[in-house]
Formats: sequence, C-alpha cells, structure tokens
Amino acid sequence: MESGIRTSMKKRKIDKIILHCSDSTFGNAAIIDNWHRERGWDCIGYHYVICRDGKVEEGRELARIGSHVKGYNRTSIGICIIGRLLFTEVEVMTAEQSESLMALLYHLKEMYPSAKIHGHYELDKHKTCPNLCMTKLLREFAKFQPMGKRVIKT
Ligand SMILES: [Zn+2]
Repeated sequence: MESGIRTSMKKRKIDKIILHCSDSTFGNAAIIDNWHRERGWDCIGYHYVICRDGKVEEGRELARIGSHVKGYNRTSIGICIIGRLLFTEVEVMTAEQSESLMALLYHLKEMYPSAKIHGHYELDKHKTCPNLCMTKLLREFAKFQPMGKRVIKT
C-alpha cells in the first residue's frame, strides 16, 4: 500500500478518533516513545504523531489499544500533533501539519466511517488538549479534498 499505513489492523472496533497535542515545541514518534517509556508504559501511547514539518509518523500499531485518553482507549485512535500553547487557533498549526492532519483524518474516516473526531478536552474536562477549536477544525475538515492517496510522508 503506497501510503505506508499497515492494512492488517482492522481488528479493533473504532468509534473515536481523538486529537492531542504534545505540549512541546518539538518532538516526533521516537521522542514521545521515550517520554512514555519513562512513565513506565511499554511504548508510545498514540497511534500517530504529526511533526511540525507535517510528517506523519506511526506510533503504536492501530490494532493495539492506545494509551492517551482516560476511559476511551479501547475503541479509539490517538493522534498527537506536535506543538503547545500556540494552538489557540487552528491556523497556528503549521500549514504542513494542518494539511497532514486533514489527510490522515480523511484516510481514517474511510477506514472507520462511523468514527467521530474529538479533541481530548471534549472527553476529559480537566484537559485543554489539543488546544485547538474542534468546531473550527471540523468545519475545515468538512471542506477538505484530498490531493492524492499519499497520507504518510516518509
Ligand atoms: Zn491529550
């Protein structure tokens, strides 16, 4: 598959796609993997990481339950966008991140059409993560037209 997304993983029932931010100005899947191992987890808790340059990296395999949201891990996919307080408006994601996020969401919605897209804060009142306005983001997503099949840039 040209996108590089593994296809043998449609085993888990998925009803939510949940967006997070890293609360850091830098990072990638390997760095977050280290942070999460330092917390005693066996690997990165997110399924995808969107780097500042727009590169989409795979984290935990989709077939495996993630570790990113209290109470909803079993049936959700976790996406982490690298960034922090800057994220008060959707536009503050880099243009590359925004484009990659839309393409990734589009792809995941094709795989799991009934899955709903949420920001972490919508499922946990104590969080502001991903510090993006979900209403605005979903409005953007509704208008999104994919340019090609390539979701994962390697
Ligand atoms: Zn979060």
